[in-house]
Amino acid sequence: MKKRTTGSALALRICFVMVLVAFLLNFNDLALKSIVFYAVLLVAGGLIWGRLVMALWPKLTQKARARFGVISYGASFSGGTLLPIRFGEDIATGERIALQLTIAITIGIWIALIYRFIYKNKPNMRKKIVAGNWKMNTLPAEGVELAKGVVAKRALASNEVNFIVCPPFTHLAQVAEALKGSSIALGAQNCAAEAKGAYTGEVAASMIAALGCKYVILGHSERRQYYGETSATLNRKMEQAYANKLTPIYCVGENLAEREAGKHFEVVKVQIEEVIYNLTAEQFADLVIAYEPVWAIGTGKTATAEQAQEIHAYIRKVLAAKFGAAAAECPILYGGSCKPSNAAEIFAKEDVDGGLIGGAALKADDFIAIGQGFGA
Ligand code: PEP
Repeated sequence: MKKRTTGSALALRICFVMVLVAFLLNFNDLALKSIVFYAVLLVAGGLIWGRLVMALWPKLTQKARARFGVISYGASFSGGTLLPIRFGEDIATGERIALQLTIAITIGIWIALIYRFIYKNKPNMRKKIVAGNWKMNTLPAEGVELAKGVVAKRALASNEVNFIVCPPFTHLAQVAEALKGSSIALGAQNCAAEAKGAYTGEVAASMIAALGCKYVILGHSERRQYYGETSATLNRKMEQAYANKLTPIYCVGENLAEREAGKHFEVVKVQIEEVIYNLTAEQFADLVIAYEPVWAIGTGKTATAEQAQEIHAYIRKVLAAKFGAAAAECPILYGGSCKPSNAAEIFAKEDVDGGLIGGAALKADDFIAIGQGFGA
């Protein structure tokens, strides 16, 4: 799998290049101790700036923040280094450093203010997803009709939303055909824990990938409850998903008794620790989480937007404890009686990045209308 560069690794590399540039620009007329001083200043400045960018622009994704950090630091540094050399050739070293610092900090502050202004009222930049879990519904021809309806109406929702449909295994191939040429992605509702072999009735991750699936739902409460799926099984299914380049949509959520006993935080924490904590950083970067309170699935009872936000923020905190800043980029979907009338309010919450939709995904109009919860 291709290794991703983290924001801090990128910032370090940039600092290194900056130091080299500083050496080249100042080498002729600086004593060795000044060069060392510059190097320390640049590395420390880069690290401090990198930290500030990570802390102050939470709405940007890690990638966007790293890009912003590099551009702003690069511009400040170039301005600070080049302008005094060009316009103040005769000034003493101390004055030159003061001038360089002043110019660098001024440019940095201006870029930061402009960025702040541009992004102040924008939603966060995490991937927005609306995924339809069709469960054991539709015959193949009905599934194809439904998929065609979704394709036909997709333009009514914002381009920013990533729609996914997850039909039953039996019509994945036909639905894949109906989705061809559209931006709607295909997912499966489950996969086997083994790669292949004598497992009657099972469907391997490689098989669904071969049919065009990009996603697979794992750990849905119905699978945990009716088919006894445990964390041990789910760990193996996750491995199979990643081995076949499928993005897992990993479901967590508490049942009614657990919610009433105030154990919902603990329940989702364990569901994450026992499975998601076993992922590598690269695998984690390719994961979607769905929080689905079991008491809200198919019952018509929805968690309030505040309840959803509270637990989504908590889930992100649990993810951050293991994966650090990368947790800010993991899409966390809400699922449980989500419908056109409540989607906008739930999706407006900071840590809700879309929905995993059951019943309402069986009507193309409703499914797209839920996507419009992010604006048309
Ligand atoms: C689901 O089972 O994933 C789900 C969210 O179902 P519903 O929307 O019907 O509650």
